[in-house]
Amino acid sequence: MRDTLIQAAYLLAAFLFLLALRALGKPVTARRGMQLAAVGMAVGIVATLFNARILSYEWIAVGAVVGALAGYPLGKWVPMTAMPQRIALSHALGALAATLVGVGEYLHGVSAGTLGRGQVTALGFEVLLGGLTVTGSLMAFGKLQEILPGRPLVFRGQNAFNLSVLAIGVASLVWLVVDPANVVAAGVMLAVSLAVGVLLVLPIGGADMPVVVSLLNSYAGLAAVATGFAINNNILIIVGALDGLSGFILSVAMSKAMNRSFGNVLFGAFGAPPAGAAPGAASAGGEMSAISAEDAALRMAYAEKVVIVPGYGLAVAQAQHQARELGDLIEKRGGDVRYAIHPVAGRMPGHMNVLLAEAGVPYDKLVDMDDINERFAETDVALVVGANDVVNPAARTNPQSPIYGMPILKVADARSVIALKRGKGTGFSGVENDLFVGPRTSMLFGDAKQSLITLGLGVKDA
Ligand code: NAP
Repeated sequence: MRDTLIQAAYLLAAFLFLLALRALGKPVTARRGMQLAAVGMAVGIVATLFNARILSYEWIAVGAVVGALAGYPLGKWVPMTAMPQRIALSHALGALAATLVGVGEYLHGVSAGTLGRGQVTALGFEVLLGGLTVTGSLMAFGKLQEILPGRPLVFRGQNAFNLSVLAIGVASLVWLVVDPANVVAAGVMLAVSLAVGVLLVLPIGGADMPVVVSLLNSYAGLAAVATGFAINNNILIIVGALDGLSGFILSVAMSKAMNRSFGNVLFGAFGAPPAGAAPGAASAGGEMSAISAEDAALRMAYAEKVVIVPGYGLAVAQAQHQARELGDLIEKRGGDVRYAIHPVAGRMPGHMNVLLAEAGVPYDKLVDMDDINERFAETDVALVVGANDVVNPAARTNPQSPIYGMPILKVADARSVIALKRGKGTGFSGVENDLFVGPRTSMLFGDAKQSLITLGLGVKDA
């Protein structure tokens, strides 16, 4: 009876996770999605606490307190700009849990003499995937947090070397399946999986880590599936599969939006410039023309149609509130203001949605790339706030450019462009941007937050 109730609770939790994933697909329902997922997780945890195999609750209580003490500050105080590394750290911890469960179950099985081939296969996959996710995620965290050098660390024959090490890991898994109680094989497999995580992430540049994090998310999900099979737990199998697949889909979508093939994500030293491409040299040249804040404010105040185009610089400056305030002021004067959302603007999927939603921009004002691109031709002013790569026309016009083929926001089609940035810095990809020297573009130099505040004051006075 107790077991039936637990299984029913797991089914309910799985259903809530499915609803949550669906709701997370749209900004307007995303908050609800997070709440549904949290309730689903609570149902899963509470149901598990009734498991008859639990003999005492002391250590579970200690784990829950330590987890809550670590999790609360991670969720509450880590700034949005540091979210990618926070997620990497969460993956490392999740995968560590899966790996430790695997190691614990294995040692328990060895001492009890109960290990069967099926169980050891599941445990092997769990430890192999879990181990590489732990070290891979820690490397991603280190690179994003700039504790480790962000540049890709590459050496000749790296892919062949990495694949050989991975092959040793798989061979030790086969060895373990043939001889389940062989602790040496298990130890070799664990050591190799930890090494593979480091080796896989070494050749990838720090700024490309979000794609890696999403891929590692997928591996962590698969490790959870294996854990579910190993300890015969349905909710782990379902949730792990959801996690594994959604992480995989997200990695593919991100690589597509960043103009990389998935093969390049898996095996290319991404973050390193493509062979033959000279970053920073992809521009036809020309001078940027600066505009004063007063003139820019006048232009914004009298524009009928304005599109605000946020990018990574908005996140750096934490200028989302000022962007919304400027938008509100223009709307008060009768202008129409929209916010253009590029799928990989910023440094993580949904980065701009999250920042603008936090600032209270209504969801119907956030317009996706394909829809807003049709509107630029009739836009009076496109205000680019710390965006660079996602508005670089070279992606459409210059086959030599490293970002050629990446879908972009067609800001250059607008009647006029005002770009807010601090100086002549390039974006994430390191290539020059001809938009900023274009005939319709005026540059307002300075920190985005300060520039937006000045523009707001100017629009008020106009
Ligand atoms: P970007 O190309 O990285 O450019 C950001 C620009 O913001 C820089 O040119 C910089 O110029 C300016 N900036 C920085 N701090 C600023 C401040 N405080 N005030 C004003 N301007 C500031 O950004 P993006 O256009 O959003 O493009 C995102 C890039 O990241 C893409 O190449 C994408 O492929 C990549 N990426 C995205 C994700 C994702 O999931 N979103 C993941 C990995 C990689 P100055 O230095 O001159 O100020």
